[in-house]
Amino acid sequence: MSIASFGRNTSKLKALVGIRARLVILALILVVPLMLDRVRVLEDTRSRQVAQAANELSELAKHTADAQREIISTVQAVVKSSAYIYAAASHQGRGCAVMRASLRVDLPWIRNISTIGPEGKIDCSTSPSIVGSDLSDRDYLRKARELHEFVLSDYIPSRITTLPTMIAAYPVSAVDGGQESVVIAAIDLKWMSQLLANRGGRSGVSVVLVDGTGTILASPPESASLIGQKLKDTSLLEAVTLREINLDREYGSISFESADGERKAVSFARVTGTRARMIVSINKSVMLGDINREIRTAYIQLGLVGLITLLGAWFAGERLIMRPVRMMTDMANRLGRGELSARASGASLPPEFVPLAKAFDAMASQLSEREREMAAANDRLTVIASHDLVSGLANRRGFQSRLEFEWMKALQSEGRLSVLMIDVDHFKLFNDTYGHPEGDTCLKRIGEVLAAIANSCGGFAARYGGEEFCLLLPNSDPAHAVQMGEQVRATVEGLAIAHLTSPGQTVTVSVGVATIAPGESQPQDDLIEAADAALYAAKRRGRNAVVEHGLIRPADQPVSLAG
Ligand code: GH3
Ligand code: MG
Ligand code: MG
Repeated sequence: MSIASFGRNTSKLKALVGIRARLVILALILVVPLMLDRVRVLEDTRSRQVAQAANELSELAKHTADAQREIISTVQAVVKSSAYIYAAASHQGRGCAVMRASLRVDLPWIRNISTIGPEGKIDCSTSPSIVGSDLSDRDYLRKARELHEFVLSDYIPSRITTLPTMIAAYPVSAVDGGQESVVIAAIDLKWMSQLLANRGGRSGVSVVLVDGTGTILASPPESASLIGQKLKDTSLLEAVTLREINLDREYGSISFESADGERKAVSFARVTGTRARMIVSINKSVMLGDINREIRTAYIQLGLVGLITLLGAWFAGERLIMRPVRMMTDMANRLGRGELSARASGASLPPEFVPLAKAFDAMASQLSEREREMAAANDRLTVIASHDLVSGLANRRGFQSRLEFEWMKALQSEGRLSVLMIDVDHFKLFNDTYGHPEGDTCLKRIGEVLAAIANSCGGFAARYGGEEFCLLLPNSDPAHAVQMGEQVRATVEGLAIAHLTSPGQTVTVSVGVATIAPGESQPQDDLIEAADAALYAAKRRGRNAVVEHGLIRPADQPVSLAG
């Protein structure tokens, strides 16, 4: 791009970005960083709250898992003790009775403790009604016998009570190799749920205990209906989080957006020694409701502040800059149109514009002074241009404008107008005889004669050109005009200016007289031509004579000359 076209583009851009837009941009440059900083602080607060909540969540999951582990440890301790008691007593053939008698501990989360015999049937139980039930197909039973250690089942609906149950199993063989019986305890999940209820208690937070197959074992009383459901069938989690949770990790936290568009955070912790996990899930939109509302309000406030700043900058630009500039422009335009009386300092202007307004007014005063001087000079020039220096009379131009003026007057008053065309006889000879300067003096004297006659009768005398003069007589009739013509002729003759080379030995003039009643469509030239024709006739008659053309009317045909 050339420097010139860059310059053009820059000025186009400047024209586009007017002064108000520039003010607005300036205001935005001031306000936007503040806005951004405020938003950043709020977003930071939100991030901190999210982090803090995630931390709390993770702690909650761990603590709840710890609490569950305590329950399970207690259950483990109980079933192991039972197994010992059972093993010890069974040598005396009183295993069942002694075990039942020794387990009168009131543990709310243990529904019952039983032993399963080699055939897989319950042969002893703290709930006598379930004795004889066949549990030979249960996984936990097989595992306990195989592993010879404590086993915790996944969630199962109790075959006997149909209540959701988790079974803790411990083979008596672990303490006494000869024994095939397995001690089992049915854990009451209702109690576990009540325990969980104490762990949540915050809006948007849900806590569940899930077994290794993803079945919900315990849940606070308000969501008790979830117990027994597969986690994946609930809206608590998504498939992806399930995968994460099922990985062999002790603790973890995941954040995701659920299918219904809600942001959720999930923390989980494995209940040590089991495949069960505590899952604490939190609905972020509920948790962050307050801070989000605060941020929204802050955005609205900042938006309003920005808007007010924009409007303020726009208004200030309009009032403090644009309006005074428009006023000045208007004033300059008025001066340009010739309204030199226009003044700017009277208007209420910001102080910065006052010197400019005063300068404008001073310029306007100087211009109007100049114009007055120019008008006066013009008038003087007009007078000079209409004046003849030799005769001291008006020249042909002056005569023409006076004729126009008198013509209009006569038109309005329906009066008449006469013209006397006066020519010096044999003036060429006069010049030849006496010289040009003497000729000028002669013309000057004739001019004085005509001026005096014009003065006496309210007429207007002019030098028409060369040695020709004319006398304009307003409100005159043909007879009076002829009379005036005769006066002119006689007065000039009376001057007795010597002219030895002319037939009469003195300077004489010939006069042609014409009178007209001006009409709208009649040219002024008719009057002049008629007077000229009469003058020509006077010359032909022998000079030093007056010839009248007669009255010219608008409808007149050419008339023959009198005399
Ligand atoms: P006629 O009687 O037919 O009018 O004859 P004339 O000689 O007056 O007419 P012509 O037109 O032949 O000559 C006019 C002369 O007037 C010619 C010129 O030298 C003279 N003249 C015109 N203007 C001036 C002037 O300003 N000063 C002087 N001294 N002479 C002038
Ligand atoms: Mg002439
Ligand atoms: Mg002449």
